[in-house]
Amino acid sequence: MNPTTPSSATLDICSNADLHCHSTVSDGTLAPEALAARAKANGVDLWALTDHDEISGQQRALDAALALGLPYLTGTEISVSFAGRVVHIVGLGFEHRDEALTAGLRATRGGRGERAREMAASLAQVGIKGAYEGALQYVGNPELISRTHFARFLVEAGHCSDIPEVFRRFLTEGKPGYVEHKWASLGDAVRWVREAGGEAVIAHPGRYPFTPTEEYALFTEFIAHGGRGVEVVTGSHTAADAAKYTETALEFGLYASRGSDFHSPEESRTDLGRLDAGLSGRLRPIWELLAPRIHRPTAAAAA
Ligand code: AMP
Ligand code: MN
Ligand code: MN
Ligand code: MN
Repeated sequence: MNPTTPSSATLDICSNADLHCHSTVSDGTLAPEALAARAKANGVDLWALTDHDEISGQQRALDAALALGLPYLTGTEISVSFAGRVVHIVGLGFEHRDEALTAGLRATRGGRGERAREMAASLAQVGIKGAYEGALQYVGNPELISRTHFARFLVEAGHCSDIPEVFRRFLTEGKPGYVEHKWASLGDAVRWVREAGGEAVIAHPGRYPFTPTEEYALFTEFIAHGGRGVEVVTGSHTAADAAKYTETALEFGLYASRGSDFHSPEESRTDLGRLDAGLSGRLRPIWELLAPRIHRPTAAAAA
């Protein structure tokens, strides 16, 4: 009998993968290099930076991770319109110099500037002046101006005491400052990631206000487009959400992902690399599927 040699794929037992976080390239407050150092210090053993709709931070994150001996997967979080709501699709393990992915994300970002001006006009109607200029102060990349930057302004200007209060009172459907926007389609987002060699993952499904029928449609359409993964353990989920989406992943035959969704030391509930739960042993982790796409440090850097 010939004992089989395990492939490198089966050797990737990551106990602390963190495959979702944001830098100053989108709406986080730390630079990619600072996040790499934080991931390393917090015991992350596989990391991905997943800025919203932008991959220009990928080379910096990759270089910083490898220099620290930290295995790295490329990442992004794509804003998608589905059933009249915004859904986030995390892409992992793609070629970050891919032209079609870069162009698709650029098109997705395109409307953010105009949307931000409309958000400011809506806030002005309830007496909040200067929100566009205020939000811009917190923006690293003006193309990526987001609700998070408006939220920081609303707190700093004294309109709200913290970020959760902002999203309870403003910037969400039916509240001042909310502007409906047309993002990428689900099919486009999945296709851009897959054609660049990566895999698509439904981000934090527990956060969407879908009916069971709409959620079923999201999962089935996502899979029909070639999507393979779902976030189960995330900073955006409760333990009950994680238990629910463990079953959903098994039911739909999806690989499972794990990530903090860390944005900022001051604002985020879950620090990078500090999720308290692992994936259930019943699940197949997405990094098994993506094993050939993991950038690995050289032996010297890993030592
Ligand atoms: P945008 O892509 O401009 O619509 O902004 C969405 C971003 O706002 C998300 O990526 C989060 O960082 C932030 N956000 C949305 N809802 C909340 C919330 N309830 N609490 C805190 N941050 C939120
Ligand atoms: Mn964000
Ligand atoms: Mn998200
Ligand atoms: Mn996120």
